Amino acid sequence: MEKTLDKIVNLCKNRGIIFAGSEIYGGMGNTWDYGPVGVEIKNNIKRAWWKRFVQENDNTFGIDAAILMNPRVWEASGHVSSFSDPLIDCKACKKRLRADNVVEDYAKKHNIDVVADLMTNEQMQDFISEHKVKCPYCGNSDFTSIRQFGLMFETSRGVTDENQNKIYLRPETAQGEFVNFLNVQRTTRAKVPFGIAQIGKAFRNEITPGNFTFRTIEFEQMEHQLFCKASDGAKFYELYKQKARQFLLDLGINPEHLRYHDHDKLAHYALSACDIEYLYPMGWKELNGIHNRSDFDLSQHQKFSGKSMMYTDQITNESYIPNVVENSIGADRLALAILCEAYDEEELADGETRTVLHLHPAISAYKVAVLPLQKSLSEKANEVLASLKKYFMCAYDEAGSIGKRYRRQDEIGTPFCVTIDFDTLEDDTVTIRMRDSMEQIRIKISDLVDYINKAIVF
Ligand SMILES: [Zn+2]
Repeated sequence: MEKTLDKIVNLCKNRGIIFAGSEIYGGMGNTWDYGPVGVEIKNNIKRAWWKRFVQENDNTFGIDAAILMNPRVWEASGHVSSFSDPLIDCKACKKRLRADNVVEDYAKKHNIDVVADLMTNEQMQDFISEHKVKCPYCGNSDFTSIRQFGLMFETSRGVTDENQNKIYLRPETAQGEFVNFLNVQRTTRAKVPFGIAQIGKAFRNEITPGNFTFRTIEFEQMEHQLFCKASDGAKFYELYKQKARQFLLDLGINPEHLRYHDHDKLAHYALSACDIEYLYPMGWKELNGIHNRSDFDLSQHQKFSGKSMMYTDQITNESYIPNVVENSIGADRLALAILCEAYDEEELADGETRTVLHLHPAISAYKVAVLPLQKSLSEKANEVLASLKKYFMCAYDEAGSIGKRYRRQDEIGTPFCVTIDFDTLEDDTVTIRMRDSMEQIRIKISDLVDYINKAIVF
């Protein structure tokens, strides 16, 4: 079976997982809407991440910071001055392209050993003209010079002079953790090392084509910032590389589809940085970033806000600005990786093929589907449904043959189907059918909640 991105996109569109954003208006580039099934899957992914990196993690505290922040935050973080992409326009077809991508694609195709990330704009410019690199859209080689375009979405506050009131949609969630370092430390009385975690939306005005939900202009980040002593930075960096990978493995991702990639180019303040890449149908792409960021973040905020970010160790009396080790993953990228990983087309004994999502039951949208064998059994089925709904998201389906109804649930990854038949009316037992093995067992209605609860723990 060939697992293509097209197949995943089609399944998502047809089964209520992900739709094109503003679709009735022809869509809007790189925006996507999660449907009834998709929103459950994404919420479950966020819950699993939160459980692992907040609930079960030592000394970690969650926050939910505002998307709109004081613009000084983005001066301190360096985003105002340097968060931009090098762009060129094709003079022939007017398409706008990222110069670094143009260079990188050409170099890869012709086996030239260059890293665009390490090149200056002038070097990229020279490379493009020297090799007469062609526009990927129209084949001409006639570009404007490279210009830097800011990646932050700007808006203005209030109704007065807009330049005085310029604010930004946050391009990353991390600054919410940094600016709340003192608040969290004071109110939790946490001792370093401790972590602050957040899940939230971020926005980037990127022109790069998206590969479905892989790269979008609006996305959700799941981030954990560990505040530690400088001398512990390397140790925690290694620890979080392991923790991040283990989380992905526990979600059911094949270890052969994961690899570490150390960054060639480090930000000037970063001590080390790596990505965990996932083998998407379109190739290896970054999924989870781990960064040892030194004391840059808190030092910058101390400088720009005038508030001391010093932490004093009560035992040694040492005072210092803590270092940050960041663990960051996109909820949308992870959802896409999980969907790609779970997707399967299976040949069955009767010659039919079934499409099935082998999702971890904790991630599945619906934990159980209730299916009356015949419509005349719907009253009993609804009774069972009502008792299960208090505990889980449940699906209900009484249309079509039982085989077709199983297939519909397989396609969205529902781990259990409960069938109500005529015996149910006699002895209050039901058949529970497993998605992956397709095995069926008979079970008492009163045992259903326990049975399912045990199977869906992450
Ligand atoms: Zn062109």
